[in-house]
Amino acid sequence: MTRKQLVSSFLALFICGLTFAQKPSKPNASEIYNSIKKLNFLGSVLYVAAHPDDENTRLISYFANEVHARTAYLSLTRGDGGQNLIGPEIRELLGVIRTQELLTAREIDGGEQFFSRANDFGYSKHPDETLAIWNKKDVLNDVVLAIRQFKPDIIINRFDHRSPGSTHGHHTSSAMLSVEAFDLTNNQSQFPDQLEATSVWQPKRLFFNTSWWFYGSEEKFEKADKSGMMGFDIGTYYPTLGLSNSEIASLSRSQHKSQGFGNTGTRGSQMEYVELIKGDMPKNGDIFEGINTTWSRVKGGEVIGDILEEVERNFDFTNPSASIPQLLEAYKLIQKLEDAHWKTLKTAEIKDIIAACSGLYLEAVSSDQHATAGETVQLNIEIINRSNEPIKLVAYETNNHKVSKNVSLQNNEKLEYKESLAIGTNQQPTTPYWLTKKGSLGMYNVENPDLIGKPETPRKFNVSFDLEIENTAISFQKAVVYKMNDPVKGEVYKPFEIVPEAAAKIDEKVLIFNTDQEMEIPVTVTSGKNNLEASVTIAHPRDWNIYPESQNVHIDYKGESKTIFFKVIPPKNESEGLMTPIIKVGDHTYTKELIEIDYEHIPYQTVLLPSETKVVRLNIQKMGQNIGYIEGAGDIVPESLRQIGYEVITISPEDITEETLHRFDAIVVGVRAYNTIENLKYKQDILFDFVSNGGNMIVQYNTSHRLVTDNIAPFSIHLSRDRVTDENAKVSFIDKEHALLNYPNKISEKDFEGWTQERGLYFPDSWDKEFTPILEMHDKGESKKKGSLLVAKYGQGYYIYTGLSFFREFPAGVSGAYRLFANMLSIGKTNIQKQTSLND
Ligand SMILES: [Zn+2]
Repeated sequence: MTRKQLVSSFLALFICGLTFAQKPSKPNASEIYNSIKKLNFLGSVLYVAAHPDDENTRLISYFANEVHARTAYLSLTRGDGGQNLIGPEIRELLGVIRTQELLTAREIDGGEQFFSRANDFGYSKHPDETLAIWNKKDVLNDVVLAIRQFKPDIIINRFDHRSPGSTHGHHTSSAMLSVEAFDLTNNQSQFPDQLEATSVWQPKRLFFNTSWWFYGSEEKFEKADKSGMMGFDIGTYYPTLGLSNSEIASLSRSQHKSQGFGNTGTRGSQMEYVELIKGDMPKNGDIFEGINTTWSRVKGGEVIGDILEEVERNFDFTNPSASIPQLLEAYKLIQKLEDAHWKTLKTAEIKDIIAACSGLYLEAVSSDQHATAGETVQLNIEIINRSNEPIKLVAYETNNHKVSKNVSLQNNEKLEYKESLAIGTNQQPTTPYWLTKKGSLGMYNVENPDLIGKPETPRKFNVSFDLEIENTAISFQKAVVYKMNDPVKGEVYKPFEIVPEAAAKIDEKVLIFNTDQEMEIPVTVTSGKNNLEASVTIAHPRDWNIYPESQNVHIDYKGESKTIFFKVIPPKNESEGLMTPIIKVGDHTYTKELIEIDYEHIPYQTVLLPSETKVVRLNIQKMGQNIGYIEGAGDIVPESLRQIGYEVITISPEDITEETLHRFDAIVVGVRAYNTIENLKYKQDILFDFVSNGGNMIVQYNTSHRLVTDNIAPFSIHLSRDRVTDENAKVSFIDKEHALLNYPNKISEKDFEGWTQERGLYFPDSWDKEFTPILEMHDKGESKKKGSLLVAKYGQGYYIYTGLSFFREFPAGVSGAYRLFANMLSIGKTNIQKQTSLND
């Protein structure tokens, strides 16, 4: 077991009542003791920000593990708009990964996790824009709902609601909505529909988690007036865990692997500050001042507190089961509480503690990882009591099928039962609930209001165990799981999932046809059951053709895939549209693609999304044929250029020599190459000589900070943070006659339609007079930006710098982006490579 796994299982118990992890928690005495301390603290903190990774894990861990408060992070989005450093998933699939990374992070730092329906649609400069693209009222509804459900005493915002425009618009919006919600949550007339399932709530205080970053420098922050702030030394060491608070925080932060946020823990004293925004300032340095955080907070709780304080005081680390009689006494009193909120929370916590103290292990493992509607799987049920407590298994229940047992569980004697689990014929497949209906640019579409805010889809199949512990009836619920032995990893747990009978996908998400030549495309069909008999057709735009029209597929075993081939015949003229494989199995039709997300740091996930491939017929003229590609931070530009008929060879920085460059018509530099490839600074002279000798060189965007060299172009150029985030921002041509806009393809306004996410980023804001700016564009309310596409003649060749987001537009099949890029590669060349086109 690595240290990370060790810690993650150490802390797993802190997430009482949640069942997102498939691995069973196996708490030891120290963990049980910490859970008892948490059981005896009745206060809570809600941390609010916009994205996975915005949260301050040091503070979350401090409140969860040092203060023992119930602590949660409300991330308004799931981070769909970010970049993925560990795999090909982007957009909604990246959102699924980052959701699970947050859950794994919370499992380590002891927090809980919530979301809103807001979608991370990409970079936004201002909260006005953010709140126009999000449905402000709906996101505010979700923030109010999260507060009413979680009932925090303290809210802490990551961002400052008073500084719009100084950071990502999502960030400021998260703080603005949190501040606005603070004054609404206790008002019956606000969002009254919520009050059917929850109740009004007034948090006591709201803070902003400030730091030197918001002041520009550590010196400035040191000098700042801190009379409205509270400071905490969050550098605590936890002897029962053998870790410092910031070591836990780093382990938690390091779960953001898709972001590359690996983080090294520190030890020793460290301060965190919060600035009071709403409510009164505590005078005694206790953020919970004036809030009763003991059991006497709840009507009828005092006597429970007395018992549980004794449990905490007398806890025997060598025999936790000694606490069970008193825990049961407290459990029975908790069942009598009138306050439903505390009763639910504390019941879940104390049940987990009782189970842990008695070494009780309950598990229901499915024979199959996947099943389809109408199928029956076998369950293996394991029950064992590892204490001398008198525990009786009264019954267990799987899906309304109750089996009475009435057997005593003797110390360390395992009981195992086999059961069948029948999946209903109407059972919907497992998939993230926020992705089942098509949403808008800014919002997920969630039809069932009970699901709003939940981190993931609740597990459908559970087994409940009715026990009697010392004659006290307690029932426990466990989600059905799948486990297997991996020869390398050992025991591997996976969620038990429902899949459709069949799913199909065209392997490529975008198919570009630059001629009218037909192309054979693979379609992968995956079966969810044994002995699949299906027929497959492909829905396509009217002017395209597919041959054959239909194919039959037989697949013997569930989980198996087969690839079949269809011929796609593009039209003569430029055209684009969507193709979808349609599978018929008996009377059922399936049009979704089944995507598996399988990384070691998060639980395995299946996601169903509409199975769609964009097909684009282009008539691109191009000059020059051989392209050398220097990869930067990673993009699929080389594949995209191959699709329109270029020969593209990827060259590593070490291979940049005069001889290797000689064979190329153009060199293209991948995104952020000058941020990530140290070696490039030694290769610039060779690259510029290549240009001077008649080659073309195209450099795509780099961030303006942390460049490996100042010498990125043969003439001076200054990168800025200028960006145009509105993908529909109007694009004007500075010189309509310029070659880049005319040869070999005539570029028009139409070529800037259908762009995705943004126009571009990190545009230069000043440049040598040798450069000619080609395009002008700007976001609403901003000055005109001319630096998106700059070209300079250098010797016999051309150097082009562009911050336009070709790396986003190519994978989305945006035809205008391909046409413009072909012109960039063709500039100064004369040997036109004629494509089969209308003119032939
Ligand atoms: Zn963020």
